[in-house]
Amino acid sequence: MTDIESLFTRKEFQSFDFGTGIWPIVNNNIEIKLNDDGVYENILKKEIHNFSSEELINLQETSCVFSNKNESEVAEKLFSKFPNIKHNKRIGYYLNLFAGHVIEGDFRKNASSGGFGTWIFKELFEKDYIDAVIHVKEDPTKEKLFKYDISYNLEEIQAGSKTKYYPVEMSEVLNVVKDKPGRYAVIGVPSFITELRLLCEKEPVFKERINFFIGLVCGHQKSAYFSDFLAWQCGIEPNQLEHIDYRKKNANLPATSYDIEVSGMVDGAIKTITKNTRDLYGYDWGQGFFKVRASDYTDDVMNETADLTLGDAWLQDYANDSLGNNILIVRNPLIGALIKEASLDKRIKVDIIGEDKVISSQSGHFKHTQDELNYRLAKLEKKGTFVPRKRWGQKKQPNFVRKRVQDLRELISVNSAIYFKKAIEKNDYKYFIKRMNSLVFMYNVLYLDQRIKRKLRKVKRYIKI
Ligand SMILES: Cc1cc2nc3c(=O)[nH]c(=O)nc-3n(C[C@H](O)[C@H](O)[C@H](O)COP(=O)(O)OP(=O)(O)OC[C@H]3O[C@@H](n4cnc5c(N)ncnc54)[C@H](O)[C@@H]3O)c2cc1C
Repeated sequence: MTDIESLFTRKEFQSFDFGTGIWPIVNNNIEIKLNDDGVYENILKKEIHNFSSEELINLQETSCVFSNKNESEVAEKLFSKFPNIKHNKRIGYYLNLFAGHVIEGDFRKNASSGGFGTWIFKELFEKDYIDAVIHVKEDPTKEKLFKYDISYNLEEIQAGSKTKYYPVEMSEVLNVVKDKPGRYAVIGVPSFITELRLLCEKEPVFKERINFFIGLVCGHQKSAYFSDFLAWQCGIEPNQLEHIDYRKKNANLPATSYDIEVSGMVDGAIKTITKNTRDLYGYDWGQGFFKVRASDYTDDVMNETADLTLGDAWLQDYANDSLGNNILIVRNPLIGALIKEASLDKRIKVDIIGEDKVISSQSGHFKHTQDELNYRLAKLEKKGTFVPRKRWGQKKQPNFVRKRVQDLRELISVNSAIYFKKAIEKNDYKYFIKRMNSLVFMYNVLYLDQRIKRKLRKVKRYIKI
């Protein structure tokens, strides 16, 4: 049995699947459901289904884990033909690199970072390049907190602003795209954008209708328990959470120190609570609480197959501004022209930045996702399980301390799912914290050790001078 054939019979494969919702579109024997770990999982509608070799090829070719085409190859086909296009091993193809924010309207105020994630859709819509936007909004049925939805006017587009650290999938909206002719733009994290590009190759109806792909940088994806745990620490029990703003800007603090705002039922009445993320257990993204396991096996930091990639400008010159700024990686000439025009009109403010700045805005992300991937892959190989083929992964192994950091991140992500479920059973979130504390303690000791060593190196250099 090949790897792809055994996908639905070997539990380990679920750890590599991003659950984007593409497969139920490719094969109607598959459906996607939020499982009891709080992540989307592809499952067979009927317990036994023998895939034909054609079905298997279609599944393989539309999966960013199993496809023979990696992100570089997909991107080359899309972008390499553009005049003046450049390429950087870490950033991928690009025409322009910027940092900045939106000036016009309330885009920046209502956004997570600089507001480009909503503004670009407004611009494409107003200039009549698109009829609809596929993005992530509150679930009107309240069955889940958020879901992929389609917006058909400016008001709906603006209602979808802000980052949602919550599991989502695309099968429902893609069925609409299939049935309803139109010109669509879409936004997503790297695995979603890559798999959509692969789907477009397989099913031309999507290639014809989805005209713009906006990518978000994504440190990693979170399970649904992340939101429950944040809310629980604010006094809202799991299942009582109705609304969460993961990125509430705090005017008194730098952009990196944002708040969260949660609303839900407490003692029979709806309460809204705001807390700074620094005061919340499990909010350190490096530790990887509730991390979706597949996130550890991607090497696409900059969403390399997107027409425009957006992230936070985590750079000294920008991060102190509590209103937030984006980094922008432009790969599509039309989007580049829209940005240039809006900049001349002073509707947006963007500074041209270099490759080094873009890379240092996500330095921790590159270190984990690309430079230390080889250690995670080597661990899989040792276990004798499936090992995804990756572009980054042949470089030298990290040092002893960084290996232990990687081990602890894995333990935190795996154990947070296990112990959070137990904490729900016991109706006690402190049980979860107690079980996780020893891992967090060891993690912090390793970081303290690294900080001390860095300081000592600096002192040594100073003494030599
Ligand atoms: C899971 C996740 C992890 C991230 N990690 C990083 C990181 O490590 N480093 C970094 O620089 N940036 C990261 N980002 C991106 C960052 O948080 C901002 O979303 C980005 O800078 C755009 O901000 P904005 O102000 O321009 O967008 P806004 O104007 O606020 O618009 C955001 C747009 O993104 C859409 N959206 C929100 N959540 C999702 C989602 N889960 N999936 C698909 N679309 C969504 C919204 O519907 C909206 O259209 C992450 C985003 C997500 C969703």
